[in-house]
Amino acid sequence: MLNNQGRPTGVDGAKNVGSATGFATYTGSRGLSQVEGLIYEIGDVKRTGVDFPEVEDFESCLGGMERKEEIGLVGLSEPETMRHYTRLSRKNYAIDLGLYPLGSCTMKHNPRINEKVARIPGLSDVHPLQPISTTQGALDLIDTLAHWLKTLTGMPAVAMSPKAGAHGELCGLMAIRAALEAKGDARSIVLAPESAHGTNPATAALCGYKVKPIPATADGRVDLAAMKEALGPDVAAIMVTNPNTCGLFEREIIEIADAVHAIGGYFYCDGANFNAIVGKVRPGDLGVDAMHINLHKTFSTPHGGGGPGAGPVVLSEALAPYAPIPYVLAGEESFELVEHDVVGGKSFGRMTAFHGQMGMCIRALAYMMSHGADGLAKIAEDSVLNANYVLASLKDVMSASYDGPCMHEALFDDRFLKDTGVSTLDFSKAMIDEGYHPMTMYFPLVVHGAMLIEPTESESKGSVDQFIGMMRHLVKAAKEGETERFLGAPYNAPLKRLDETAAARNPILRWRKTEEE
Ligand SMILES: *Cc1c(COP(=O)(O)O)cnc(C)c1O
Repeated sequence: MLNNQGRPTGVDGAKNVGSATGFATYTGSRGLSQVEGLIYEIGDVKRTGVDFPEVEDFESCLGGMERKEEIGLVGLSEPETMRHYTRLSRKNYAIDLGLYPLGSCTMKHNPRINEKVARIPGLSDVHPLQPISTTQGALDLIDTLAHWLKTLTGMPAVAMSPKAGAHGELCGLMAIRAALEAKGDARSIVLAPESAHGTNPATAALCGYKVKPIPATADGRVDLAAMKEALGPDVAAIMVTNPNTCGLFEREIIEIADAVHAIGGYFYCDGANFNAIVGKVRPGDLGVDAMHINLHKTFSTPHGGGGPGAGPVVLSEALAPYAPIPYVLAGEESFELVEHDVVGGKSFGRMTAFHGQMGMCIRALAYMMSHGADGLAKIAEDSVLNANYVLASLKDVMSASYDGPCMHEALFDDRFLKDTGVSTLDFSKAMIDEGYHPMTMYFPLVVHGAMLIEPTESESKGSVDQFIGMMRHLVKAAKEGETERFLGAPYNAPLKRLDETAAARNPILRWRKTEEE
């Protein structure tokens, strides 16, 4: 039996989730994996809490504004509350549980030294409204991180406040728009390759630009000839990811930059894949005008339910004057915080109330300093090595989309599943039964049924070997006609296969009490 939230309840619910032996359990739990309802379903104010005695001669001061319905709070004891959240946390997949092969997301280990440093009281308790004289250390930290970001990218300026990659894209395009408007040259088009991450065209559209897609070549890179064709006096910028979302280095990146500069436009580089080239290539040497850096990808700060992102944006000389406020300025004696642009200044304005994700800046700097310059270059090398090991170990049974080695992630498409009756989605769901979070699927859009695998440098050879073995096992099962194991997968997850389209189209965002309850 399912309750109104689609969750199994009681004995029948156990049948619903199935078990190896087929018998239903009294609780619906399976082994030590307990079923867990929503906190509102399992709690009840009538079971816990304190009853105060009626007050005598009570006179309300609320003038008729008193609550007339039940407040609807949850009612759990402290141990019940602990268990609720701990049980939920056990249903979550995390990088601390296993390999997390989501391509484009760089799900790497967050070293615990990061957490230790972030918990130093002087850093963890700092408040953005404290007097500047008492936050010099925090400003120094932001400035030091900014220094390393500029050094690693070879760029002269960086905006530290954007709170994610997509927010950084917005920052970069707003700076580009401000620079163009300052020249009295407002333009209307932004070019983006067909393989671009969805946030690129979304950001350009949000900034009021028309997005013109640029096709890819047969070897998975930007079609330079088509790009030049699309250039014109109305093009404000091109947004290119490098290495791109197919996991390939854009060999003609300098020609791309030169071509867009020649028509008076700017080059926005999506730096989400910086992990592959950190310490090896400086984007500033490639003609980049603006690039966001996802601290939560390249610099290991937790993400994906584990923490907020952070997306500082490095800027070229041409765009630096348009950077957002607030920013930190290293003075002779102390650090200053510039909250208002100078009179006649060019800053495009403010994106965040304060200075961005301070906690993530601390973790990212701890990560950089604990690795050093040589260690960061090693990260790029090992992440590329791991991805190529995956590619080389799977390409005889899966269909690699492009010839030759990859950068930090390996792209496959669904040709190897032809005539098996198994789709990329089914295959991904079967990975859940094997205890793995699926790789990124159906992205990038330039290949059919994409499967994008990014092991990152965090994984040992042993753990990558187990992943490869699991993938080969599933490929064999699909090719040998074991379609059942795919079509209904995941069988071992608490709720089995969900209707994700319905969940996206008709999201139920608010719990409501129903009659039976
Ligand atoms: C992750 C990612 C983004 C967006 O970054 P967020 O921090 O998730 O906003 C943009 N482009 C690419 C290629 C990405 O992988």
